[in-house]
Amino acid sequence: MNMQEEDFIIEIRNVSKFFGEKTALECINLSVRKGEFVTILGPSGCGKTTLLRLLAGFQTVSEGEIRIAGKEITQTPPHKRPVNTVFQKYALFPHLNVYDNIAFGLKLKKLSKAVIERKVRGSLKMVGMTDYEFRDVDSLSGGQQQRVAIARAIVNEPEVLLLDEPLAALDLKMRKDMQMELKEMHKRLGITFVYVTHDQEEALTLSDTIVVMSDGKIQQIGTPIDIYNEPANSFVADFIGESNILNGTMIKDNLVRFCDTNFECVDRGFGEQTPVDVVIRPEDIYIFQQSDAAQLTGVVQSTIFKGVHYEMTVLCGDYEFLVQDYHHFEVGDTVGLLVKPMDIHIMHKERLCNTFEGKLLDAEHVEFLGCTFACMPVSCAQPGEKVSVEVDFNQIILQDNEEDGALTGEVRFILYKGNHYHLTVLSDWDELVYVDTNDVWDDGDRVGITIPAEAIRVVKC
Ligand code: ATP
Repeated sequence: MNMQEEDFIIEIRNVSKFFGEKTALECINLSVRKGEFVTILGPSGCGKTTLLRLLAGFQTVSEGEIRIAGKEITQTPPHKRPVNTVFQKYALFPHLNVYDNIAFGLKLKKLSKAVIERKVRGSLKMVGMTDYEFRDVDSLSGGQQQRVAIARAIVNEPEVLLLDEPLAALDLKMRKDMQMELKEMHKRLGITFVYVTHDQEEALTLSDTIVVMSDGKIQQIGTPIDIYNEPANSFVADFIGESNILNGTMIKDNLVRFCDTNFECVDRGFGEQTPVDVVIRPEDIYIFQQSDAAQLTGVVQSTIFKGVHYEMTVLCGDYEFLVQDYHHFEVGDTVGLLVKPMDIHIMHKERLCNTFEGKLLDAEHVEFLGCTFACMPVSCAQPGEKVSVEVDFNQIILQDNEEDGALTGEVRFILYKGNHYHLTVLSDWDELVYVDTNDVWDDGDRVGITIPAEAIRVVKC
């Protein structure tokens, strides 16, 4: 056994999963240490359940390799893997009582009655349900049923417990209580937990390590503190906690410009005059009465009492900032804002414009995204040649009426950038189109997509 096998209980190497044309997971690499509590976090449809099902063996990988406890298990059937799964829906047998539900798998393994009894009692104790063994499962609350489901999974003494949104069906109070219990259980059991959720707060509360996913890809792997304080990109910053995410320009090392103002920052190595994303958490912005100390001056647009702090929006020029503070200001107050250099987080932009692969049809027509578009006369390539097509985010027009667009798609992700929205739209051609707009759209909206001829830049490949 080499060092790596000893260190990691789960090793996922270059794993992809395709459902027909659909890529659910793309080249996933992840190593999980023994005893770690790892949470796979992401919005609906990002591929987290698929990844868990590949670990459980309910689905097989299309490409790549999975090793658990040092063994290559890509083709191993579920019951032969050292894992057990707890699902969102408790999946208990309604005609069996608590004891028999937990004992079910052990009876199939033909263990002796005494051993079964010892193991069932042990796992009931572990989930705090000692006195419930002869209760009908139907008579239990949702939280208690989920505890029984966990007891049934851990009674097999798996090396890895897979949990697929196990608390999603519980009400808020029960969910909070169960989060604490799960954390305790993880400590007591000492086994590895791989936990799937779309709830960022749950991920921050429970995990040693968080794996943030979107669109079938891993965006960042890190501790809750790393992910919160140093998000790798604007998607992670937006998904984890509240953020102000703005377009900025890195003027030089330690100096960034946004909102028409220069700010000192601690980041270096971005080059000069480089477009960047700037992320500032709302709790990192100081708000006070207008004074010379302010870096920005703005007017309060809204204010909500949140129990411990106030949450206010402040309009500075045409940028809107979300601010959280113990001090309260009224709507209409003119205020000063200040942010310390170390609280300004600078990120590389993932892209500066849309880039599509296309084919020049004739001097004034180019094919991309599965459609033919009129373009301004092209001289850099010959008809029939493959070309690259660039379109700025703010040049793409979205329409309510799908039929008005040259092609159609669905809004997948919306990022508010202080003075506009940055949308990710999945076209029905299955390519992503990025759009800057002032119009308000919702996740899941169907849209028509129009790209004017003058917005299309044809570039020779
Ligand atoms: P949710 O939180 O909504 O369950 P998720 O992040 O767990 O979302 P997955 O269920 O893993 O996402 O799905 C990832 C993508 O793969 C989705 O676009 C989904 O429609 C697709 N997908 C999943 N299972 C199948 C399947 N059996 N056949 C076709 N497509 C599938």
